[in-house]
Amino acid sequence: MTPAEQQVREHLAALYRLLDRMGLGHRIYSHHSARVPGDPEHMLLPAFGVLLEEVSASTLMKINRAGESVDPPGVDSNQAASILHWAAYNARDDVMCVAHYHSAATVAVGALEAGLLPMSQGAMQFYNRIGYHDYEGPTFNPDEQPRLAADLSTHRVLLLRNHGALVCGRSVAETYVLIDDLEKACKSQLLAMSSGAEIRLPPHEVCELTAQYFAATMPQPRGESRDFPAALRQLERLGVEYKH
Ligand SMILES: [Zn+2]
Repeated sequence: MTPAEQQVREHLAALYRLLDRMGLGHRIYSHHSARVPGDPEHMLLPAFGVLLEEVSASTLMKINRAGESVDPPGVDSNQAASILHWAAYNARDDVMCVAHYHSAATVAVGALEAGLLPMSQGAMQFYNRIGYHDYEGPTFNPDEQPRLAADLSTHRVLLLRNHGALVCGRSVAETYVLIDDLEKACKSQLLAMSSGAEIRLPPHEVCELTAQYFAATMPQPRGESRDFPAALRQLERLGVEYKH
């Protein structure tokens, strides 16, 4: 195994543990993957049926484009996960890590006709930069992949209406930051909407300026230099054994 693959394995395992601590699990049905560095034919994913808190670097399997585990071979893999994740990887070379989860906040905002409003600074980074994909039933049909890819377009986040979120980062670190920002943006919006009061939104120009600022400050994947290392330090302090 290359040092690059070992590092991606550790980062992806850490992502599972972080999302578990954020309450973003859904029993065994939230799944997150990363490309194997230098190997475009395979991604890393845990066996089907594993809890977020059970994932560590060595338990991640290599999954081929057919959704089969090739290393170790023959292990039960999640076919729906494979269809979703490969849809993003096949569509975009810059996507290195894909996260899929069903948080109440992203399901709720995704079900709103208006979707995510530019109501908070965190939400404004996604202003006109978020995709929506209409629900077609449980993801078991590879024919859905071109439509998923078209709806993802050039965005980093795809809200799967009536289902959950698909977050596509250029690294595990960036995916972590996007998930955290998206989750907080959705929760803030729902909290404001639940008040029943009229919501004040900034003008279009300010939303666009903010989105452009976020884009300009991240020519490199976000979170790699500060946010994700800080999160890893927290896991270390807590004694979370994700590296083994
Ligand atoms: Zn799902």
